[in-house]
Amino acid sequence: MRTLSKVRWSDLRPDDFLRRQGECPVVYLPIGLCEPHGHIAALGLDTLKADYYCEEAATRFGGIVAPTQGYHIHECGFHKPWLDEVVGDTNPLMAGMPPQVICYHFLYQLRAFANAGFHAVIVVSGHAGGSQKDLRRVADAFTKRTRIPVVVKTDPEWGGYEGDHAGAYEISQLLAIHPEAVDLSLLKRMDEEGSGGRRALGVDAAEADPVKGKEINETIIAAIGTTAKELRVGAALKESIGYQEIEEIWSAVLSLGDWWSMGEG
Ligand SMILES: [Zn+2]
Repeated sequence: MRTLSKVRWSDLRPDDFLRRQGECPVVYLPIGLCEPHGHIAALGLDTLKADYYCEEAATRFGGIVAPTQGYHIHECGFHKPWLDEVVGDTNPLMAGMPPQVICYHFLYQLRAFANAGFHAVIVVSGHAGGSQKDLRRVADAFTKRTRIPVVVKTDPEWGGYEGDHAGAYEISQLLAIHPEAVDLSLLKRMDEEGSGGRRALGVDAAEADPVKGKEINETIIAAIGTTAKELRVGAALKESIGYQEIEEIWSAVLSLGDWWSMGEG
């Protein structure tokens, strides 16, 4: 059974929630998804990273971790040919959705955070590649209307490092967080013909190293902490936001044109 956390919205009683929120009115939203990261790593690598960074940041710097968003934008735009190339005919075991579904849901998540009394939102996406631009479009529209700051960054954007997909960076990160989620003895494992073989494993995954992973992870957590300190000084909403107002913000978002994630990347 999972051990309850002292920083998770879902695990706190109201008194404890309000005390934590009073000390630091920042909410963290971890976002990830399930997608292939080679035979060697857990499918939820992106989610596991995001959860870890948010929980560590809340523990060290204050604030509360929102329920994790475990689905992300995928299988559209440039993702589609990428998937065909790296997993071929094999079932990718994917928890992906199109941008309009994720972004609409995201907007209502922001509403929930603002109505619960948070002054600021920090979104940590373990999935990179550009779809964060669509989330930022929503975040900016929400901030414009409510003045609640929302920072959306993928893990490489926090850490100022390049990042990769299931390569030396990402596998190092996971090795440092959950070594049990990685089995390097499967590095040479290939699928049958037509599968793309490697299940999206990065070419340099064999160079993964938990010491390097820890260094990357600590840089990211420190950067999130700096942002949390800057944002905690804001103000809560004076009145809660209703569905109608959110629908108006959504219309404004849609008027901005096509989603980045539907393009060629
Ligand atoms: Zn990943």
